[in-house]
Amino acid sequence: CEPLYNVAIIVPYRQRENHLKMFINNMHRFLSNQSISFTIYVVEHTCPTIFNRAILHNIGYKEAKAEQKFDCYVFHDVDLIPEKLENYYHCDNSPQHLVVTRNRTKYIMFSTRYFGGGVLFSPEHYELINGFTNKIFGWGGEDNNAYFRVLDKNLTIHRYPGSVASYTMFEHGWDTGNPRNDLIVDKREALHPTRNPE
Ligand code: UDP
Ligand code: MN
Repeated sequence: CEPLYNVAIIVPYRQRENHLKMFINNMHRFLSNQSISFTIYVVEHTCPTIFNRAILHNIGYKEAKAEQKFDCYVFHDVDLIPEKLENYYHCDNSPQHLVVTRNRTKYIMFSTRYFGGGVLFSPEHYELINGFTNKIFGWGGEDNNAYFRVLDKNLTIHRYPGSVASYTMFEHGWDTGNPRNDLIVDKREALHPTRNPE
């Protein structure tokens, strides 16, 4: 039978070998069970600078697009595994925030502004928001920037209920090379994409 969707899974990555093994193992089964056609792109940060998660998203998008025609792009952390098969990894009419609840935060959704962990976009919507910021190095802010890019284009964010969009996140400490920056959500001005268009 012909799969209805061809989906690219873009995974930002550096020095999380165990996570990557568990991710690949779980996601192949999960996505196969959803009967979608998929390709997982692990985008490795090899240059020895502070980690830049969002730039890896953009690189993954470009590489995947050059290789195949995808109708949906999923940007997904390596340490998160979806728990429910009904959490479908394909695009409908809106950008979607995938990681609504997770084990480490007792399955409580903490903010509708949270847009981290895993999101998905159609190519049209990804290009409408001009992708993710390339400018943010270190931990924090790049997901909030993406949230405002979506809102600024008058798009709505789709979410499944927390009972469906639930995740297991692997335990981990702070990575070397990914220090926390101060670009948190209330610094909207500094992050605002129309002020920082690159
Ligand atoms: N990441 C990575 N190596 C690093 C830092 C981050 O591979 O040194 C990737 C990995 O996919 C990870 C994601 O970036 O899941 C987000 O980082 P982190 O898990 O630290 O953020 P959290 O959501 O746990 O605060
Ligand atoms: Mn994590």
